Amino acid sequence: MLTEQQIIQYQGSTDLLKDRIIFVTGAGDGIGKAAACAFAQAGATVVLAGRTVAKLEQVYDQIVAANCTQPLIYPIDLEGAKPEDYEQLAVALDEQFGRLDGLLLNAGVLGQRTPLSNYRQDVWDKVMQINMTAQFQMTQALMPVLEKSNDASVVFTTSSVGRQGRAFWGAYAISKFAIEGMVQTWAAEVDGVGSVRINAINPGATSTNMRAQAYPAENPDHLKTPEQIMPAYLFLLGPDSVGVNGQSINAQIR
Ligand code: NDP
Repeated sequence: MLTEQQIIQYQGSTDLLKDRIIFVTGAGDGIGKAAACAFAQAGATVVLAGRTVAKLEQVYDQIVAANCTQPLIYPIDLEGAKPEDYEQLAVALDEQFGRLDGLLLNAGVLGQRTPLSNYRQDVWDKVMQINMTAQFQMTQALMPVLEKSNDASVVFTTSSVGRQGRAFWGAYAISKFAIEGMVQTWAAEVDGVGSVRINAINPGATSTNMRAQAYPAENPDHLKTPEQIMPAYLFLLGPDSVGVNGQSINAQIR
């Protein structure tokens, strides 16, 4: 496996993801948008999933304008989606492509920045549903279609506050701890069994709406842009990460 330094500087070939079908959640904004565009640029057919269709359409237009492979749009709200919705998604992907080569579970919400003693139950439920339960349900439903690929990569999105507890990060931090545990558990279960690998990526401080919501007083010019952290994403979704399983990888070093 590459070192952390090599991963954040990774440069794949221009057709690194050629012929790959990659599903990206939260593809309409922030890191997910940059990832969808980077994957398309590297030759993948990207399925743009998210809750705000107008944003997904903008990303679609951007990819088409760049002469990349035509993407697809799949509107889905992870707060309201039920297991049967994910089953329907699996059927749709199977019918359209017969397999899935990549799944980037990127969508997430921040919730409240407040002490756990004051944390609102409705916000807790929402954050845990979107950041944890939906991630599990979607991956479970898509596993059969991922198993039809001869090289499938599942990438969950973690955070530094999901590795080391920090005050006032509430359900967000706890949901990301759960993601770290889910990746370790699931990766151990698929290890050496088929062709699916499961890892987590920690974007690190990146200039997006979520980061601005968490740190309103921060100057975003001092942060990495989503485009700057794409090397680790390309590495994990492409063939050079075959054999990498159960890892939690940093997309940048602070
Ligand atoms: P943004 O808020 O910019 O983007 C989040 C994306 O998730 C949006 O496209 C949003 O859709 C989508 N989303 C939110 N809720 C739902 C929902 N209910 N159903 C479907 N899609 C939804 O955040 P980032 O790009 O910063 O974050 C991406 C990931 O990276 C998250 O998992 C986050 O926790 C993680 N992360 C980010 C860091 C950072 O510094 N930015 C640091 C560490 C981790 P819509 O556009 O419709 O709102």
